[in-house]
Amino acid sequence: MSEIFELDPSNERGYFAIPGLQHKYRETVLLFVAQDCLQVCAWCFRKRLFNGQALEDDQIVDPVQALDYLRSHEEVQSVLLSGGDALMADPGLLRELYDGIAKLDHIHSLRIGTRALVHDPHAFSHLIPRQYAKKLYVVLHIVRPEEVTPQLVEVLESLHHCSVPVQTPLLAGINAEPDLLAELWYKLTVAGMQPYYIFQCRPARGNERFALTFREGHDVFSGAQSQSTGVIKTARYVMSNRSGKWEVIGIDHNEAVLRCHQGISPEMIGTIRRASAHAVWWDLPKDDPLIDAIPIWRQAASDE
Ligand code: SF4
Repeated sequence: MSEIFELDPSNERGYFAIPGLQHKYRETVLLFVAQDCLQVCAWCFRKRLFNGQALEDDQIVDPVQALDYLRSHEEVQSVLLSGGDALMADPGLLRELYDGIAKLDHIHSLRIGTRALVHDPHAFSHLIPRQYAKKLYVVLHIVRPEEVTPQLVEVLESLHHCSVPVQTPLLAGINAEPDLLAELWYKLTVAGMQPYYIFQCRPARGNERFALTFREGHDVFSGAQSQSTGVIKTARYVMSNRSGKWEVIGIDHNEAVLRCHQGISPEMIGTIRRASAHAVWWDLPKDDPLIDAIPIWRQAASDE
């Protein structure tokens, strides 16, 4: 199994359009605004940032270049600030990006990806704009119910102008229990957050001990769903691989059934593929017809 664990399991290196800017999906651009986190998660899929193995393009984005890129790519509708932890970024860089993105008519939303707000809510909330010209999402990374603290809930009340989707990697030995996941979703929903994605643990080198097969992950996910009401079970069980984001919609005998939720090409969305239920990871095989899909930004670049 260990041979599938690699430095960059989702091929992020293939989606940098300029240093610090990834453009994998047509409508969304991801900006690296920080290379630090308040606490480094043992399961981080970008642990290359923290162990001296960063890719050449794993750089903090230049705001002038980023805004130029966004200005010239009107297909982009949403920007995600990431890293590292977006709220560990230089406040001046955040301000410059906030101001610049607010002026771009084709961008409808800004997402701020953070776990620092979970670890120390009061220390970081001032970095989130109180008023903003675009729809603001604070995308939290929360793995266990006890991380939904009174302090976090209090801070989120002051951020009522933001939506707060929550992403949770499913991790053996950490949170892969139906009761625990159901409790997490309940606490998130009561506190006004939205259970958003449950992620199959990405096979980054060093993540071997957290891996679950699709069958194991699906058992946990559907076990949590079976004890949650409809308004609470809003999360999707997904994997984010080289070709896109695939939702694990079910297990059929010895196969996991996957539906493309987001693809490197729009034609992929909604297509169905099957993987072994005993696998911990999957991607489109090289001879799959969809693998020829070319990201939109690359098409544009090759047309010039
Ligand atoms: S907060 Fe995110 S980027 Fe930072 S160490 Fe954890 S998983 Fe990695």
